[in-house]
Amino acid sequence: MAQVTCSFCGRNKKDVDLMVSGISAHICNFCIEQAFQILGEEDKTKKEGKKPKFKLKKPKELTAYLDQYVIGQQEAKKVLTVAVYNHYKRLGQKQDDDDVRIEKSNIIMVGDTGTGKTYLAKTLAKTLEVPFCIADATVLTEAGYVGEDVESILTRLLQAADYNVEAAERGIVYIDELDKIARKSDNPSITRDVSGEGVQQAMLKLLEGTSVNVPPQGGRKHPDQKMISVNTENILFICGGAFDGIARHIAGRLNTQPLGFSKKSNADLIDRNNLLQYVTAQDLKAFGLIPELIGRLPVLTHLDPLDKDSLKLILTEPKNALTRQYVKLLAMENVALTFEESGIDFIVEKAVEFNLGARGLRSICEAIITDAMYEFPSEEGEHTLVINEEYARTQFEKSKFKKLQVA
Ligand code: ADP
Repeated sequence: MAQVTCSFCGRNKKDVDLMVSGISAHICNFCIEQAFQILGEEDKTKKEGKKPKFKLKKPKELTAYLDQYVIGQQEAKKVLTVAVYNHYKRLGQKQDDDDVRIEKSNIIMVGDTGTGKTYLAKTLAKTLEVPFCIADATVLTEAGYVGEDVESILTRLLQAADYNVEAAERGIVYIDELDKIARKSDNPSITRDVSGEGVQQAMLKLLEGTSVNVPPQGGRKHPDQKMISVNTENILFICGGAFDGIARHIAGRLNTQPLGFSKKSNADLIDRNNLLQYVTAQDLKAFGLIPELIGRLPVLTHLDPLDKDSLKLILTEPKNALTRQYVKLLAMENVALTFEESGIDFIVEKAVEFNLGARGLRSICEAIITDAMYEFPSEEGEHTLVINEEYARTQFEKSKFKKLQVA
């Protein structure tokens, strides 16, 4: 019988501990071990090579993109884009770098409803190449109560990442309406506050970084459901809320505290139309966020209230501005729609009058243009429609808004 030798190194069977035989070749234990090592290294380099899968977009690049859609809010844009950029950099940081570990800086945005908090987050998401999801704090409750556990936030992120855990673990989460889980009472010990403080407590670990067992399909935890373990250490959390009434705290604080050494009195220096710009962690605490939560959201920024000029810009300027959308919609019906300045001014005035912010622009436009959108599709030929003050007012007076006004 022919001598059995390793087809890779040529060693004789008697010189090795083990020889595995295939159809027409043999491999000894030494070669198997070596091949195993090669496989391991190959795998490692593949993983490392994969790491910076995202393109590093600089803060100014990101802002330029946001500017195409979101009007104003320069401060919030700056803070958000820097945080996102740093998040990318942090993800690219090698484990064996020196001792300086870049810590993540979760963010909290304070701004009236309809000023663009969610819109900023959504628009940012479009340009990011990391998984991103939006969650609503109002549906969250403390574990064991009716509602969603905080882990459900991560279910969404996992879904956004196509269940790629590694990708989800470097994603970004926007949590809306954080103010709604503020402590209801100043006295923390009266009764258990299931939907407020309890949720805040439950969120602490998540924000800081921990391994969480996530139900992949969401919903209540079920003993039979297979959980996916997600580590939140590298997930960036951005929180937003209107914090209705916080301006009062801010005003109170500003009135009683000296601002630097200026001889001028504080009252002269304060811009009372935009008190949110002075928001501090202290105000958030007074509003009912627990200090531990505030501590885990170290970056605090605000959104400016939208004045008439901004509303007008929102209506006309962005790439997908409302007026552009209506022009497009009606063009499909062979209607050349134009908005005159007086028509735009009317819409803006009504949005301000009804205190609806940017959110109201849409419903006011609908009230004005619905008739046209109802009639034109059934008409033959080409048409023009000019929305000036007169047209806008006539349509508006007919609409349900008018009834609201009377009520
Ligand atoms: P919130 O601050 O309550 O999260 P949203 O982001 O949901 O407000 O804003 C509601 C809508 O108003 C958005 O979908 C967007 O169309 C419009 N909007 C609000 N703020 C702006 C802005 N600064 N620029 C452009 N559109 C805006």
